[in-house]
Amino acid sequence: MLKGRKVIKGVGVSSGIVLGHTRVLYPGEKKVPEIAIPPSRIKTEIASLERAVAKTVEELTKLRESAGKRIGGPVAKIFDAQLLIASDYEFLQQVKEQIGEQRRNAGYIYSSLVSQTTVQLRRSPDEYMRQMATDIEAVASRVVSHLSRHRRRKEVKFNPNTILVGKLFTATEVMNYRNLKAVGLLTTEGGRNSHMAMIARSLMMPVVVADFSWSDISSGSRVILDGTNDQAIINPTDSDWSDYQKLRKRQGPALITRIKKLPHVPPLTKDGKEVPVAANLELPGPVEDVLSERKIPIGLYRTEFMYLQSNHFPTEEEQYAYYAQIAERFVDTTVVLRTFDLGSDKFKDDGLVAHEDNPALGLRGIRSMLEMGETFKQQVRAILRASTLGNIRLMLPMVSDVTEVDKAKRLISQVKYDLRKHNIPFDNDIAIGIMIEVPSAALMADQLARRVDFMSLGTNDLTQYTMSADRNNQRVASLYTPYHPAVLHLVKTTVDAGRKHNIPVSVCGEVAGDPLALPLFIGMGVDSLSMNPVKIFDLCRQVKKIDSNLVKHLVGSVMASGSPQAVIRKLQSYRSALDKK
Ligand code: PEP
Ligand code: MG
Repeated sequence: MLKGRKVIKGVGVSSGIVLGHTRVLYPGEKKVPEIAIPPSRIKTEIASLERAVAKTVEELTKLRESAGKRIGGPVAKIFDAQLLIASDYEFLQQVKEQIGEQRRNAGYIYSSLVSQTTVQLRRSPDEYMRQMATDIEAVASRVVSHLSRHRRRKEVKFNPNTILVGKLFTATEVMNYRNLKAVGLLTTEGGRNSHMAMIARSLMMPVVVADFSWSDISSGSRVILDGTNDQAIINPTDSDWSDYQKLRKRQGPALITRIKKLPHVPPLTKDGKEVPVAANLELPGPVEDVLSERKIPIGLYRTEFMYLQSNHFPTEEEQYAYYAQIAERFVDTTVVLRTFDLGSDKFKDDGLVAHEDNPALGLRGIRSMLEMGETFKQQVRAILRASTLGNIRLMLPMVSDVTEVDKAKRLISQVKYDLRKHNIPFDNDIAIGIMIEVPSAALMADQLARRVDFMSLGTNDLTQYTMSADRNNQRVASLYTPYHPAVLHLVKTTVDAGRKHNIPVSVCGEVAGDPLALPLFIGMGVDSLSMNPVKIFDLCRQVKKIDSNLVKHLVGSVMASGSPQAVIRKLQSYRSALDKK
């Protein structure tokens, strides 16, 4: 175990600085809710534990029998080993005692004692011991899942200033951990465009992704997490600590408040062309006030986070209240509400999204909504009802084919018909748009553009699907770049199709907020750019340096590049020429 100071270099995928103590969640370990129980509940918890263990033993016995019949000896032996673990009398006694002593729920105590054992085994040079850790975890996950069914009680919060160390967290986990007062994340996986990073940014929670060794970090170590300068310091010195305390005070939420300094109108290029700049939002929060006060449009509202952060699927009324509040708050500007983009790494363990081997290529976005037609109609109904209160637009995510648009529009028409029949007011002319984030959609943009009122380029996914490189996987991060000419060709095809059919095209992936890409997008004729609010201030200041006619030539030269490096070089040299002027 690491005793001295260690600087871990990585990538700050969500900026900011926090100082605190680590809590390690090992790969495969799920954070089991920690729930304080009164003395009167101890017996019930112990009884639930016994039932969960009995169920696990029953399942493993069945598995051993069927494995023995079909495959024979070696596989059946795995279940023999797991059965021994599941019914380990001494271990169960220890769990029962701790439930009483710590007054915590059985699942939490069981999994904490399991991780104490497996951490030691995992460090063993002996392969057999490491295999034993895997078997113990497999048994524990069965017991804990039996224990956690139908349980919705209040979880105990983390110690103040807890920084979680883990592999990769889902968006739901990040929200849950934030609610439990974790202040930052240090992980081994997750790109800048992962939903983990995105939601952390919107919650202003620093995240560093780094290739660290698990044996270097244990729970309870002092740590400084610096998402702004791409590093974490484990066991920092006292002088690191006090320097960082000062730095943290200076940074604060200044990025957001700088938006207040922006004028009320979109920025203009040097030659007077408007470049509308909009914000991407996931959840309500203090930043909304600043944006609405400055009349900054919302180019992408990721509505699925409303569901991901709650403990049930929202009803039509709950959704209506949520969208109505957004519509009213942004009444002086426009809001694009994207219908639920569920699936892939945006899911909850509640069975609504079924397990898939290849979830990024599975039922995601509009695909899952068309599959759950009534759920889609319910959301559309809520959005349409709210549309009379402000300037709402409706956007469909992950479209890959014209038939999906046709089907979704048919469902929307049915909802409109029904609302009309019941004299419920709505905006009949509500604009309906689609996201272009799959190569097939970009290639079919000409056909798609005939069917919709606007298109928005989701370059985060467009890059992932064009390059076949997972947006969360650090090992393929060098391939995952929106500056790849292949991605840029699809962007240009889409923008050209929008122009031909006279509908606006925006970019709402993360690259929209990158000043390097700005001249290229203006040159291509992108109509607006929607980004993380913290990017808005700097981007708006860049716009006035650009001449929209001159950058048209830049597009030709960039599009003739053979590699992302060549694209970046050309954009960098254009930018340094601008900065010199
Ligand atoms: C995108 O893919 O670029 C996008 C904006 O959608 P999300 O990041 O929510 O997948
Ligand atoms: Mg997307």
